[in-house]
Amino acid sequence: MGHRQQEPDDLTEHHVIPRSRQGADDETNILFKPIFVHQAWHHMIVNAKPKEVIELFDALARIERGDDTVIEELFDSVVYKIVFRNMTLEKALELIKKRWKKQGGPWELVFGRSDVPYSEAVLIIEKEWMMP
Ligand SMILES: [Zn+2]
Repeated sequence: MGHRQQEPDDLTEHHVIPRSRQGADDETNILFKPIFVHQAWHHMIVNAKPKEVIELFDALARIERGDDTVIEELFDSVVYKIVFRNMTLEKALELIKKRWKKQGGPWELVFGRSDVPYSEAVLIIEKEWMMP
């Protein structure tokens, strides 16, 4: 009983489809995540939907492989604007490399290691960040 300090691994309610994007506020749309993981997710992903994040990571993986044909579509996508606002692609890639994927950064907190590739991150999103 009584109050205690919140610990970083305390579980918090995460809305798979964010409430700000008309996601339901009930058990059909809520997963429980440790606070530190949850904060790291929103730090990167803001209020994008999991399917949008997968679309983003698929495009970034293709760009990483040298496929420039996806750039224009990515740049016009909803998820790009949500996550990177008006950044250039160059700035966005720098943010990912220097902030998201730094040691102990949000990528490591959400996906387990800072060097998890986009393809693996997509599988983790499907398994852990969408409703079963
Ligand atoms: Zn959340």
